[in-house]
Amino acid sequence: MLDDKIFTFNSYMKQKFGARVARIALHTGFNCPWNRCVFCRRDSFSPDITADMSRQGWRETLAKSMDFLKKRYKNEFFAAYFQSGTATFGDEAALGGFFRQAGEIPGVVAEIFSTRPDYLTQKEIGMILRSVPESIDEIWIELGLQSTNDKSLKLMNRGHDAASYFRAVENVEKYGRSKIKIAPHIILGIPGETIDDMLKTVRESTQSEVVRGIKIHHLQIHRGTELEKIYAEAPFKLLSVDEYIEIISKIISLTPQEIVFFRLFTTTPAEYLVAPVWQLNTQEALAKLENYLEKNNIHQSSAL
Ligand code: SF4
Repeated sequence: MLDDKIFTFNSYMKQKFGARVARIALHTGFNCPWNRCVFCRRDSFSPDITADMSRQGWRETLAKSMDFLKKRYKNEFFAAYFQSGTATFGDEAALGGFFRQAGEIPGVVAEIFSTRPDYLTQKEIGMILRSVPESIDEIWIELGLQSTNDKSLKLMNRGHDAASYFRAVENVEKYGRSKIKIAPHIILGIPGETIDDMLKTVRESTQSEVVRGIKIHHLQIHRGTELEKIYAEAPFKLLSVDEYIEIISKIISLTPQEIVFFRLFTTTPAEYLVAPVWQLNTQEALAKLENYLEKNNIHQSSAL
């Protein structure tokens, strides 16, 4: 089993709550203040099951997806997952209300906020701590980084540098009252990066004690993005599934045992995806990874 080789989000939550914790997608309705990363097409990250809390009817949307998870997978515990856009950007009072209400939904035991480094200052951290109910002790930030290489961040037009990620981490160390954990979001296969660059990003971004997780996937080109135009004009090399598995396996072997893997792969519906087309769904990709790990006798921290 993959969970025997990698400390996944599922295994972490199972250890803590004795059962699987399913992520339920929520949205603040404020989107993103930057909106210019070349790879980003925000609607590809907002599936129909996302409950937009700024709109009427969000509770019904949420109830539907929770009922489905309860019936199909017997889930009893949930993580409120604010994945779309920049979850800590927007009107403070409104955000505070959303974060509090999300934590009050029966069965919710965790809240996860996906955001940018420049929206994780003392102000946003204070707002999160004031708003998330005391009963929730799993507060995670999926912190957009992609790479610690400034050249890559420029190429992806992230609008921040690596130093800004480290400042955000420091803010959580200072103001997070040991209640907030970070999982950097990293993209593998940014043009021009070597395997060593990717390993360096993982190593550097996970040094702080508040960094307790990691979310990784490969660079994909989605329809309607700036990257699609760049790729059409001058195609560049993208990772094949075998290359990706080799790199992610190396990362797994060099990652300390206590770091939680939030994600190892991404898949995108065919209508959104330009390249690379791997012809694999998530389960097939995970099975392929598991085989590779088994064959090469690799597990998390095995090369440390
Ligand atoms: S910060 Fe996030 S949501 Fe905003 S443009 Fe970049 S990837 Fe998209």
